[in-house]
Amino acid sequence: MAAKMSSTEIPRRKFLVAGSLSVAAACLNPKRLFAQEDALVQKAFKVAAATKLTVQPLRRNVTVLLGPGGNIAVLTGPDGKLLVDAEIFTAQPHVAEALASINGDPIKQLINTHWHFDHTGGNAWLHEAGASILAQENTRKHLLVDTRVEGWFHTFPASPPGALPTTVFKEDHTVHANNSTLVLKHYLPAHTDSDISVHFTEADIFHAGDTFWNRNYPFIDYSTGGSIDGQIRAAEANIAKVTDKMIVIPGHGAVGGKADLLLFRDVLAGIREKVAALKKQGRTLNEIIAAKPGAKTDAEWGNGFKTGDEFVALVYQGV
Ligand SMILES: [Zn+2]
Repeated sequence: MAAKMSSTEIPRRKFLVAGSLSVAAACLNPKRLFAQEDALVQKAFKVAAATKLTVQPLRRNVTVLLGPGGNIAVLTGPDGKLLVDAEIFTAQPHVAEALASINGDPIKQLINTHWHFDHTGGNAWLHEAGASILAQENTRKHLLVDTRVEGWFHTFPASPPGALPTTVFKEDHTVHANNSTLVLKHYLPAHTDSDISVHFTEADIFHAGDTFWNRNYPFIDYSTGGSIDGQIRAAEANIAKVTDKMIVIPGHGAVGGKADLLLFRDVLAGIREKVAALKKQGRTLNEIIAAKPGAKTDAEWGNGFKTGDEFVALVYQGV
């Protein structure tokens, strides 16, 4: 289960820190908003084009691909490859290389954990390569039309027909493939309104999508149904579901287990309580940021995707 370390970690972190800083600047200084427009998304495309993925075998026939976008789970066997999530579209050559390094079997199925570009960006080419696409119905709904994410200052254009999920479900769905049973479950609105978990029951591996960021502050997409309280509620649901024996794949960060889910819930809930109390006292966002509600975790958790200050701003928006 030990991760093969890779040189890709360093450039990814550099990008994310740089991207995060520009978002923070835009948040704190609205006049600069236009100039900073979607720098983070544009940078993500560039970094994904230049970053190799790390291939980490987990248990039985499940492997995880760790890269600059969302973590991809790969289930192998006689039915061909089944993927959970599809990375950023510019990661295509690196995803293809990583998949080929597992075996030469064709790509047959793709499940999206939610609609975001760093999880669905590869839908079109994977569909062309032979995958049918399955997702919660809100994933299809958002991909069908131009969709603005205020937190990224970016409007994502409607996806081409080939990138759209061909099968959707509302709450629960079961997939049988490669002598495995996959149980899919929709969360109540959490990180978005389209989040699902995928449990590989025989391997006992749980992909939580972006309801779980391992030792990283999460992005929360208020534009498509996400909220801090929803994110915490999903963390509670994961804790209730996951056993000590399960391997847990986060949307972002290293593969973990139940203890990491507990920590994630505690960190989010702790910061939420502090921010809510200060906001209730009438403190401004800048005053609350200066109070450093995440002082204990900022150095580690704010080092990648969201700085501590940006995460406080996301929490402030929802309490
Ligand atoms: Zn996401």
